Amino acid sequence: VTRTREEADRTRALAAEEEHLLSCVHCGFCLPACPTYVRLGDEADSPRGRLHLMRAVAEGRLDPASNVLHRHLDRCLGCRACEPVCPSGVPYGHLLERAREVTRAHRSPPLAVRILLALLARRSWTRVASWAARLVRGSGLAGAAARVLPRRWGLPFAMLAASAPTDLRAWPGDVTGAMGEGRHATGSGRVALLDGCVQRGIFGHVNRATVRVLRANGYDVLTVPGQKCCGALHAHAGDLEGARALARRNVEAFRIADPDWIGVNAAGCGAALREYGDLLEGDRLEHEARTLASRVRDVSELLAAAGPRGGAPVRVDVAWDPPCHLLHAQRVHEPPLQVLEAIPGVVRRDLARASECCGGAGVYGMTHPGLGGRIGGDKTSALLESGAELVVTANPGCQMQMGAGLLLDGRRLRVVHLVEILDESYRRAGAAAPGETHEERA
Ligand code: SF4
Ligand code: SF4
Repeated sequence: VTRTREEADRTRALAAEEEHLLSCVHCGFCLPACPTYVRLGDEADSPRGRLHLMRAVAEGRLDPASNVLHRHLDRCLGCRACEPVCPSGVPYGHLLERAREVTRAHRSPPLAVRILLALLARRSWTRVASWAARLVRGSGLAGAAARVLPRRWGLPFAMLAASAPTDLRAWPGDVTGAMGEGRHATGSGRVALLDGCVQRGIFGHVNRATVRVLRANGYDVLTVPGQKCCGALHAHAGDLEGARALARRNVEAFRIADPDWIGVNAAGCGAALREYGDLLEGDRLEHEARTLASRVRDVSELLAAAGPRGGAPVRVDVAWDPPCHLLHAQRVHEPPLQVLEAIPGVVRRDLARASECCGGAGVYGMTHPGLGGRIGGDKTSALLESGAELVVTANPGCQMQMGAGLLLDGRRLRVVHLVEILDESYRRAGAAAPGETHEERA
């Protein structure tokens, strides 16, 4: 194999992670937490096995172009369920991104992934693609294509159809004029909202609901011009240079706004922003990146810190499915539950294996239709068995993946973002911040 200098540098970048790689003590505690190992039973498809392969590359014992390395790293969801259970604190997600940077130098990701990453890297392109996606969704074409196409080709259309707003007014509940007390009616702090790329493009209704519920809980919500895609999908695909370029733009944009908090309503983006310090290690903006990372909060954390205020009842049984990048990567567990508990009428149903990935994992459902389909199918079964009337999550990818699985199975169960139910509760209580109306929803 003839390696370019660039490829050799990338392999050296993984070798520089020796300390992290050596911290794995091979105990195997992570194996039962890993969705791919549980289903395939192959050591090489476990966290421990993948770390072993990475170490072999770092030590020059395994060719980074080898099929075995690509196959087993490709099959990893990047869900990071292996991290919280690891007694040695192996930073698996960090290592996976560095390893994928190495493999990427030898084999490009699928064309669809490269197109997606290129689209997300430029706001003007993202805007055009989002406009087209909303047109296909709004015309009913997405739902129709999902119904008639074979499952593999219908999946992207089903995901798009599943991103449409759900009318929560269908669920019963009293309409009262009273808003409950939060911890702060005003002065909770200045929040700059990451508006995201997919979130801004096709989940605008979630962003608007986020602004309303934060304001109702005393936060000043700032608009930050010049912000970009967070770069999470670029990093997961091993395009660390692409991710760094986007991170630098965001660091500059949020530095100018100088907020108390950077609020994020997409778990994958929140996890990426919290790791900007590591991503930009050694960069001229490293200090600013670490400052930004320290201010990042999931919207559920901000709401829980403020109370949150209760609104009018929304009588609905829900299944809470925590996004992997909220639970495992950001370790945010209680705040979303506190938000659900604050909404009168909401009953939380038990969800089996709730902490397991839904199979979405960025574009995994499309690049690995077999294994992703099995993992997604198990999630769909668990959601149906929970007896819930509504599924609640906090990440656009999970919302689309679970919604698509249910849609393709012909189920009526819908998936919404956490803030949407709280927003509906406030709408019923007649609460709207100055200059906002709840009729502004998409
Ligand atoms: S990130 Fe998820 S799929 Fe990958 S090794 Fe860890 S638990 Fe398994
Ligand atoms: S739990 Fe941690 S230390 Fe144990 S095998 Fe898994 S990665 Fe290695």
